[in-house]
Order: sequence, then structure tokens, then C-alpha cells
Amino acid sequence: MLLNLTILPGDGIGPEVTAQAVLVLQAAADAFGHQLRLQSKNIGGAALAAANDPLPPDTIQACLASSAVLMGAVGSPAFDHNPTHLRPEAGLLRLRRELGAFANLRPAVCFAALVDASPLRAQVVCGTDILIVRELLGGLYFGAPRSIEGTAGSRVAINTMRYGESEIERIARVAFELARKRRKKVLSVDKANVLECSRLWREVVTCVAKDYPDVKLAHQYVDSAAMLLVQRPTDFDVVLTENMFGDILSDQAGGVVGSLGLLASASIGGKVGLYEPVHGSAPDIAGKGIANPLGAILSAAMMLRHSFGLEPEAACIEKAVSSVLEEGYRTADLAGATGSAVSTSVMGQRVAEAVKVSRSLPQ
Ligand code: NAD
Repeated sequence: MLLNLTILPGDGIGPEVTAQAVLVLQAAADAFGHQLRLQSKNIGGAALAAANDPLPPDTIQACLASSAVLMGAVGSPAFDHNPTHLRPEAGLLRLRRELGAFANLRPAVCFAALVDASPLRAQVVCGTDILIVRELLGGLYFGAPRSIEGTAGSRVAINTMRYGESEIERIARVAFELARKRRKKVLSVDKANVLECSRLWREVVTCVAKDYPDVKLAHQYVDSAAMLLVQRPTDFDVVLTENMFGDILSDQAGGVVGSLGLLASASIGGKVGLYEPVHGSAPDIAGKGIANPLGAILSAAMMLRHSFGLEPEAACIEKAVSSVLEEGYRTADLAGATGSAVSTSVMGQRVAEAVKVSRSLPQ
């Protein structure tokens, strides 16, 4: 198969982790007889520096003309004081909208070898396997009006949370379909005791659930869900939630399983799928060669699964990550203060090697 991809390295550690994801993708493509066709484009701070636009037209065109997009991360302190539309993050929000990617899938899995990397006790976290399905194109991040108005000292800031029934229904269907391939449980997370948006959310999700009688639906308020996520993470299967709650809960889930650097994501449902690690550009460690590339590598695996239907290839990368961790390789975020750590590029090379080795073994 020809895998026609646009790569958006972005800012900070984005280029470092994306390079390793591409290395592993190339190893998987070679091992399974596929051809990679890659083009790299600017987004975020890199695009602002080059063209004063966080999402230049040629980046959008390249993404829309490819079969899938693999991104690193955006964000740079150099642009923190820019107006909203000229911030790196504005480029990513626009890209998600341009691609129509409304369903953000964020798995949080506890790797057996990393039980000790979790701040939780092993018996609490062991076996955690959560899929957060986050609505990505609505809610507070996109709602209008939005502004900061008035004069200094008496300014007022406005954001709008807005959800339409069709937006809730389409994301709910994604969650129920995915639950059918897993443990058949959906937990819909909202704040229906306070927010109208959440009351409509709960009503629509309950209605959609009637089409999936084999899937067990439960509802939970977001504050209580956040508490349960650290108390009993293994109870969770598919978590269905709106944009901001999903953003927060998925980082928390990353903390539960060990490190934000491990978390992958897929944004699907639109014209072209967008795959990116959950973490940001991590300016505090950028350029040091110590970032964990596994979130980016696992995002590439999700891309093979969701955009190309290449399940064995995706599973091969996931197995390679697991075996490299079992061999004891750790980047600094996972090694802890006393453990010895490998660099970003060594971790990527180990995973690429494990992909090659697993394919050369008798199947
Ligand atoms: P962050 O995810 O960049 O970093 C949070 C902490 O986790 C930092 O201590 C960082 O060093 C660590 N970390 C993150 N990824 C890591 C990795 N792969 N390996 C090892 N450690 C890792 O979040 P932040 O500090 O809140 O934000 C930094 C910038 O990133 C901001 O400009 C923010 O807007 C942006 N951001 C972008 C995205 C995205 O591109 N999707 C997501 C979140 C934040």
C-alpha cells in the first residue's frame, strides 16, 4: 500500500519525537512491504516564524491532499503574548476544523513493564486500559462569542460553551462503535447538574444508546469521574466526553499510567485523520534529546489502524513498544531520579529494531 502522509513536526520537542515516529513507520513499512510517501510542512510557532501564519495555506493543502497527517506538537513561549489568532495553538485548532476531525481518541494503557512508573499503587493501576473519546470541534474551544473586553482593571473575558444535538450524536456513535470492539462499556462524562450543554449531552447520549443494547452506558459528573479515575482506573473502558473535559481527563489519565509522554491520539471522523501525541511542545526539555517519543510512535500505530485499516502493522508497533519497555529501556520521564535513561533517538531506534525483529520471527 502507498502511505501518503503529511508530517507536521511543529515546535519544541515536536520535531524530535516526530522524527522517531517516522523512523518506526519506515521500519514497519519495510517489514510489511508498504511504501511511505512523506512531505513535511510547517505549523504553529515554526509556521509563524516562517510566514506569520500558524497554519499557512500550503500546509492545509498538503494535509487535505494526503491520506493522513502525523503531527508533533505546537506551542512556543516566544508567541505567548501574540493575539489569539497569531498563537501557535490557533494553527492546530484551525487544522482540526479544516480536516473536520471531530472525534479525538486518546487511549491510556498501563504497560506491564511500567507499573512502577505510575504514582498509584501497582494493584490500583495494573490492568488499566481506557479509551477517552473526546469531542474535538465544539464546546468552549470553538464557541462564539469569545473575547476579552473593556479597559484594564475592569476587563471582562467571555467564552461560550455550545453544543448541537447532531454534534453530540455523531461523537456518541463513535464511542459506542469503539466500545463494541472492547469491553462494551461507555461512561459519558458531563456536568449535567450545572450546565445546560451537559443536560442536552446526557439526553442525546441516552437516546443514541438505544441503538447499542449490547453496550452498557453509565453517566458521571466530571468532578466525580476525575476522582474515580485515580481511585479505580481499571473500572473505566470507553469514556465519552466533550472537548474541555476530555482535554483535562486525558492528561490525568496520562499521569495515572505513568507519563504524558506515552499518550497517543487520533483525531478522526473528517476528510483526513490527524495523529499526534497528547503532550505539548514541552519547551522545558526541548533540544535536549531527552523527550519520550513513545506517544508519537504510538500515534503512528493508531494512524495505521484508523486511516489505513492496517491492524497487524499497528499491533506490531504496539508490541515493539511493549517489548522495548520490558527490556528495560526508559527515557528520562520514565526512569525516575535514580534510573538510567536513554535518549529520544535511542528509544526510537530500539522500537524500530524491535519492529524489524518481530517481523523476521516465524509468524
Ligand atoms: P506539555 O505537554 O508540553 O508539558 C507538560 C510537562 O510534561 C512538561 O514538564 C514536559 O517536560 C513534560 N512532557 C511533555 N511531553 C513529554 C515527553 N514526550 N517526554 C517527556 N516529558 C514530556 O504541556 P505544557 O507545558 O502545558 O505546554 C507547553 C506548550 O505546549 C504550550 O505552548 C501549550 O500551549 C502547548 N501544547 C500543545 C499541545 C499540542 O500541540 N497538541 C498540547 C498541549 C500543550
